[in-house]
Amino acid sequence: MESHTTQILSIATIIVLIGIIFSLVLFPQVICEGKNGEEASDTRDTLYQVSTINALLQSVYDGIVPIGEVRKHGDTAIGTTDGLDGELIGVDGAYYVIRTDGVAYPLADTATTPFVSATFFDSDITIPADTIANISRFEDQLEAGLPSANVVYAIRIDGTFDYVETRSVPKQSRPYPKLAEAVKEQTEFEFHNTTGTIVGFWSPEFVSGLNVPGGYHIHFITDDRRAGGHVLDFSMTGGEIEVDITPPDLYIVLPPTEGDFYQVNLTEDLSSALASVEKN
Ligand SMILES: [Zn+2]
Repeated sequence: MESHTTQILSIATIIVLIGIIFSLVLFPQVICEGKNGEEASDTRDTLYQVSTINALLQSVYDGIVPIGEVRKHGDTAIGTTDGLDGELIGVDGAYYVIRTDGVAYPLADTATTPFVSATFFDSDITIPADTIANISRFEDQLEAGLPSANVVYAIRIDGTFDYVETRSVPKQSRPYPKLAEAVKEQTEFEFHNTTGTIVGFWSPEFVSGLNVPGGYHIHFITDDRRAGGHVLDFSMTGGEIEVDITPPDLYIVLPPTEGDFYQVNLTEDLSSALASVEKN
């Protein structure tokens, strides 16, 4: 009788111990998932942007938000860094800047940006692309596959590119020239038969002054994450354009009260300046 009781107690002890071990192993993960789930519902479909495209065109180049902060709002991003020092790209949560030597440098959390767009990329639509002969064909196929021209989309293309032409802009010093002047010193790069990733955004007309209206803005990085830039042209044989619909939220961080943002003229129509900057 006594040995039977001892046996039951031993089994009970083992069950309790197994329970404790399982709790220790599993419970922290449950907490993590819950926390991430909360963050996800708050921010994943938000387009997070620092400053405005017109401020950048008018030479507001001083970095105002650390990359560590931007990273909290997106794993996918494009923009530039403090002083217009190259082309920023965020992909899979890793942030890089491609400088005029063509090299992609990992960005420290302490590096800052004067202009960036970011979001957490979750593919909502896959647009199967025929052969994309050039960037105009890309635009046609992308826009034909978008369900509305009235929202912002994040874009991602992974694959082997027959050809990619990119550029990067040199770091500027004061007095800062306007962006249309600064890009005249850009360096251009060509890639052939390269595997890599393009990320960027397509924005509706109504973002005029804030971002690139009625069109795309895309950056490229090679698969080994060592080179890339602002995409001027590309071609690929077949492929898929992954699209993330980013509404409902748009979150814009404007520069602080002291500094260039409070001085520059943001009332001008800068659409022709923007066209020259983006496409050349
Ligand atoms: Zn760019």
